[in-house]
Amino acid sequence: MGGLMKRQQRKTVWGKKAVHSALLAALAALLAGCSQPKEYQESSVYAMDTIMRFQVLASPDSNLEGVLRDEVQRVDLLLSATDPDSELYQLNHREGEAFTASQELADILDGCLEISRETGGALNIALYPVTQAWGFTTGDYHVPDAATLSDAMEKIHWEEIEMDGTQVWLPEGMELDLGAVGKGYLTDRCVELLRENQVSSALLDLGGNIYAHGRKEDGTAWRIGIQDPSGQGLVASFTAEDEAVVTSGTYQRYFEADGKRYHHILDSGTGYPVENGLESVTIVTDNGFLADALSTSLFVLGLEDSVTFWREQYPQVGVVWVTSQGEVYYTENLEDRFTPAEGITSHLVEA
Ligand code: ADP
Ligand code: MG
Repeated sequence: MGGLMKRQQRKTVWGKKAVHSALLAALAALLAGCSQPKEYQESSVYAMDTIMRFQVLASPDSNLEGVLRDEVQRVDLLLSATDPDSELYQLNHREGEAFTASQELADILDGCLEISRETGGALNIALYPVTQAWGFTTGDYHVPDAATLSDAMEKIHWEEIEMDGTQVWLPEGMELDLGAVGKGYLTDRCVELLRENQVSSALLDLGGNIYAHGRKEDGTAWRIGIQDPSGQGLVASFTAEDEAVVTSGTYQRYFEADGKRYHHILDSGTGYPVENGLESVTIVTDNGFLADALSTSLFVLGLEDSVTFWREQYPQVGVVWVTSQGEVYYTENLEDRFTPAEGITSHLVEA
């Protein structure tokens, strides 16, 4: 009996040792494989005329920063209207000849034209000649003279864009500008890379195009604020999880001339900056491209028409409007996570 006990005891001791060294070996393998513990890695890059900031939960020696930076450069080279090496630039300079686009660019153009049709042309990717006339493309901002503007207005008929698969025809003189959707599209590509690399938590800020990936490391949801268009503070904030939050507003890019403010979102009907009593529109949805396309479109449509459009076409998307009076309208699908700032008048928009 005693002998058996002893042997069993010894066995037990051996067992513990074995487990212990197996654990050590596993830990060593873990350290060698995925190295240091994860913490938020912050990086930024200047592209698409804006600063892009990435906050990604990853191990310090993961190369996610480089992976995201490469993707920013790749998409910029696809969509830039000003870089002669970009694919869009090539398309824009075919002088009426057919262009065979990559599947990726063709899909983006298809997506834009669909929203143009749905919004009756509120989104117009053919506005580039008008944007140029205002100097928004170069930073040489000025109110264009009537002749220059009416010349430019001749070239913005997006309905004349023809597509057949990846073949694209632009009428002579037409040039496309994907500024209204580019950052949103890039957001989706970055999120895809985060998923491929098993990143569980990140906050992307592509010049005001936010994407909240997962939750914060502490398990709480990311909270996103909506800027007060007339000041420094916020008019509201809300939580977001695996969602893009994209704002189009009068205050993001503008100049002043003769005491008047001219911003960068233009009305295809007048060739002038949209003036409809709105200061900003924010879209909340899981697709960055859609969020970006709709933020510009709903801004152009104005409060009343965009509420109708939202009800009929996109009731699943969250929308926040900020008016020139500083009042906030928000859709009821955001109600349980939405907090207006103190002193702000807010209205719930029902589906
Ligand atoms: P931001 O680029 O500041 O995030 P938007 O997503 O609303 O804002 O895009 C505005 C850009 O889209 C402008 O700088 C211009 O390049 C282009 N743009 C302006 N007006 C229109 C319009 N009506 N339709 C399509 N694109 C537009
Ligand atoms: Mg947009």
